[in-house]
This record gives sequence, structure tokens and C-alpha cells, in this order.
Amino acid sequence: MAGRLEGKVALITGGVSGIGLGTVELFAAEGAQIVAADIQDEKGQMLERRFRGALRYARCDVTVEADIAAAVALAKSEFGGLDILFNNAGISDGMRVLTEIEADTWSWIFDVLVRGPALGMKHAAPLMLERGGGSIINTASIAGLQAGWGPIAYSSAKAAVIHMSRVAAAQLSPQKIRVNAICPGLIATSIFGASLGLPREVADQMAARIVENAHRAQPIPKPGLPDDIAQAALYLASDASAFVSGTHMVVDGGITVGGHAWDAEAMSPFQTLFGDTVPPQPTP
Ligand code: NAP
Repeated sequence: MAGRLEGKVALITGGVSGIGLGTVELFAAEGAQIVAADIQDEKGQMLERRFRGALRYARCDVTVEADIAAAVALAKSEFGGLDILFNNAGISDGMRVLTEIEADTWSWIFDVLVRGPALGMKHAAPLMLERGGGSIINTASIAGLQAGWGPIAYSSAKAAVIHMSRVAAAQLSPQKIRVNAICPGLIATSIFGASLGLPREVADQMAARIVENAHRAQPIPKPGLPDDIAQAALYLASDASAFVSGTHMVVDGGITVGGHAWDAEAMSPFQTLFGDTVPPQPTP
């Protein structure tokens, strides 16, 4: 059976690690040719050897417009065009307290998480038009939907990604370029260690530690893995989602249903107010 992405070319930023790497593996198995764009050169070169002929690595800092343009150009020169863009590269800062965040931190977070995907869409869209359409997927986060799942700059940037995806969908869908966002929940990757400033190997090992414990983090009792997000990206990238644009897909194991709703040890707002006593019921 032909792969679901047979004949398609995908550019995946943040493609050598975590969610991006999981998506590279799935997209390659489904027949896509891939440009993996990232700033970890050693891992990128290993990927080129692993998927020889089907994948090229582009050193691409998504805060640098020329790097993005070059990665898009590589898709054209190497594989003949571009059908799918997965704007997924990301970082997080450890700073949760509004009053303590440096102005430069706000700029850095928004440059990587919002301006990067915006420039990715800008450079990818003309190539997609040449092919009669395409699919753009932007990695947002549940932190962009609800407070409490990430630092304030990161969360604000992810909210911007969700809305930017809608606005871009309004502009590009008439030309058959669909734009959607994915909101992952807790996914076991290196980003948590990296945001704490831990050395690369330690951050990578932390991802494995998260796998051991994360089955308790949400109603579905399994850890969130890069492949869980890759499967959503595959749907949005493939023709199966031909009528889907301007939306965001939450892939979080149910974590955003509300802690008190599924965690037996969490207090509901009702319990917080009344403890275990039954409040007076309104008379009919
Ligand atoms: P990851 O394993 O750290 O992968 C992110 C990749 O992006 C890394 O290789 C990172 O390199 C790279 N990167 C960082 N800055 C870049 C830049 N300026 N240009 C190009 N590449 C850059 O983390 P992940 O969890 O898979 O993150 C992927 C996306 O998912 C991010 O957008 C993240 O915000 C989002 N997300 C993750 C979770 C989660 O629970 N893991 C939840 C919601 C959303 P370095 O390691 O060298 O920085």
C-alpha cells in the first residue's frame, strides 16, 4: 500500500529532536521526502545518513530569515518543491514571574515561536502555490489555551501561534494552502531540560525520565510521546484533512479537561468552597 505522504515534500523545523524527530520518522515511513531544519548539526547529519536519499538536513535558525529561505530553497533544489511545512522548532524559558522577565527574553521567545513560523509560512507559501496547494502545521501548545501550563512569555507566544494560524488560514486557504495548529499536552522531550539550561545530554536523558512518570499526568494513563503528535501532524499534512483549515487540534491525553474532573486527589471548586459538607439545596 502506498504511503499517505507518497510524492510529497515536507519541511520540518526542529526536525532532529523530540516532536520534530518523531514526525520525521513517521513522515518518512509514509513516503515523504523531507528537509529537517534545526540547529543541532551533529544530529542532523546523523539523520541524513539514516534516511539517505530521502532526507536533507538544513542548519536553520528560525530567527534568521535567510536560514528559513535557504531551507525552503533546499526543498526545491533537492526534491523539486514543497507540499508540507511543519513549523515546530521551539524553546522555552524557565521564567514564570512576569515582574522578573527581561525584555530580551520576551523578544527571544516571540522571535523563535511566532516570528519563526510566520517567516516559514511567508517563504513556503510561494512554493506550495507552484504545486497547487499545500499544508502548513504550526506547533502551538495547551499553554496557549489555558493559563498554568507554561511560563508567561511562552504561553503568550503559543496563544499567538493559534491565532496566527487562523488568520493565515483565512489568507491562504483560497489558494488551497491549509493552515492548522496542534496543541500538544505534556510530551516527553528534551525541551524541559533545555529550558532549565541543563547540558544537552542531561536534557536528552530527562526526556526518558519523563516517560517513566508521565502516565500519571493526564486522564489517559500513558506518557505523551512525540509519535502522538506526529500522528496528528500526519493527518493534517495528508489529503485526509483536505477540508480542515484554520483550526487547532488538542493532543493532550485529556489533560485540559480539568484536573478536578479526573484526579481523585484534586479538590474541585465545589469542595474548596464547602469541604465535604453538603451545601443547602435550593428549594423548588
Ligand atoms: P525539543 O526536543 O527540544 O525539540 C525542539 C528542537 O528545536 C530542538 O532541536 C531545538 O534545538 C530546536 N530549536 C530551538 N531553537 C531553534 C531555532 N532558533 N531554530 C531552529 N531550531 C531551534 O522539544 P519538543 O518538545 O520536541 O518541541 C517541539 C515543539 O513542541 C516546540 O514548539 C514546543 O514549544 C512544542 N511543545 C512541546 C511540548 C512538550 O511537552 N514537549 C508541549 C507543547 C508544545 P536546541 O535543543 O538546541 O534548542
